[in-house]
Amino acid sequence: MPKFNFCPVCGADMVLQPLEERERLACSADTSHYIHYDNPKPVVAAIVEYEGEVLLARNAKWPPSWYALITGFLEANESPEDAVKREVMEEIGLDAEVQGLVGVYPFFRMNEVIIAYHVKAIGEVKLGDEIVDVKKIPKDQLIPWPYATGDAVRDWLRQQGILANVDKTLSFK
Ligand SMILES: [Zn+2]
Repeated sequence: MPKFNFCPVCGADMVLQPLEERERLACSADTSHYIHYDNPKPVVAAIVEYEGEVLLARNAKWPPSWYALITGFLEANESPEDAVKREVMEEIGLDAEVQGLVGVYPFFRMNEVIIAYHVKAIGEVKLGDEIVDVKKIPKDQLIPWPYATGDAVRDWLRQQGILANVDKTLSFK
């Protein structure tokens, strides 16, 4: 749970206390001020099909061998489909058209819920600030990785009828 020391209303200490049948971090002076529910955040992810292949991206914060889906948080008043199109544009400069929902996946370690879409993208790749590299992988060489969006990749391969790699798992080196 993220550090959250003081009530944002009165400044009293936040303390763990039994509330609504769970231990929750809440204002020690008055729980009606603030309860930190710590609900998972929704994140959108895109399996980007581009020129007949799947385009994976490497985030600037990741080790050199890691390539994964385009992901990002929703903005206020933004639908998940609009968010995924915006993220594809911001991160790799491509126009995305949503082909369908691949699935919805819990990512407990990050306290997130991943909403994964298959998109087809056109345009010229232009890397945004967060992305340092992209690579295109033929669909039949795409191998799911063992966490988070890797489950979406596995389901998508199944949905596409590309079954050879469904039972394989990539290990990032
Ligand atoms: Zn308070």
